[in-house]
Amino acid sequence: MSNAATNDWLTAVKAQIGREALPPQTAVDPVNLPMIRRWCEAMGDRNPLYAEGKLAPPATLFMWTMSHFRPDLSREGGSLLGLDLVDAAGFTSVVATNVEEEYCRDLRCGDVITQRVTLDGISEEKKTGLGVGHFVTFRYEFTDQKGEVIGRTLFRVLKFRPPAKTAAAKKSPVPRPPVTRDSAFFWEGLNQRKLLVRQCGNCGRLHHPPGPMCPECNSLEWRALECSGRGTIHSFVIVHQPQMPGLNYPLPVALIDLEEGARMVANLGEIAPGKVRIGMPVDVDFVEIEKDFVLPVFRERRAG
Ligand code: ZN
Repeated sequence: MSNAATNDWLTAVKAQIGREALPPQTAVDPVNLPMIRRWCEAMGDRNPLYAEGKLAPPATLFMWTMSHFRPDLSREGGSLLGLDLVDAAGFTSVVATNVEEEYCRDLRCGDVITQRVTLDGISEEKKTGLGVGHFVTFRYEFTDQKGEVIGRTLFRVLKFRPPAKTAAAKKSPVPRPPVTRDSAFFWEGLNQRKLLVRQCGNCGRLHHPPGPMCPECNSLEWRALECSGRGTIHSFVIVHQPQMPGLNYPLPVALIDLEEGARMVANLGEIAPGKVRIGMPVDVDFVEIEKDFVLPVFRERRAG
């Protein structure tokens, strides 16, 4: 693509900066206590102000006007303004990069939120770890039933050109997980066919996925506990989409309650999707995807 052609589409996107990126959306339901309680439970937030309905967590601001799953309930023109031009220029892949939130006043039960979103800006072409692309920023504003601003969100995505598949990219049939300083011991344990869980050195509680601090007592002391690999299925989903290379679909993925007390997400192996059930006893197996990359897979425990 010539520079002139590149400039044409970019100029067209820039001309739309400041315009509404989607029609305004008013929440179907007012801010309400049942949803606040469900959110706090999912997030592990025990602030009594939220549980008693005195305030709503500010971080739920975006939630009340979120899109519906049923297409007939969603607003028209589901694509944000400008992104069609960015797509047409070949930057078809997307990853959210950062979100800045500003809270102007407390959010309370009964507030009926309206969301407005405008195109805020587009960067020049950047080279990033994911490929060449443009950062596109949208500005969301949330108002109440009287038009008072409750908060604002700056939402930035990187629209990038998907890199051509290289030999290196094809090498691993299953995408590798991100390994952090906190989780490295877990993956190293798997390489040695051990299922390790982080155990607090102070209160003894197990926590998984591993983090830097015990969520119970805030201690930074810890040790790796080797688990037996015996557990039961706490819950499961059968994944149809999205599909990742190297895995067979439909793929049963389960939350496993380990007998030591920790709970972890893992794929299930050699169990027909229709046969999976909650409470099913399972044992861990270690599947080598490639050298230095082993995944835990749980299989139904054989009788006896
Ligand atoms: Zn602890």
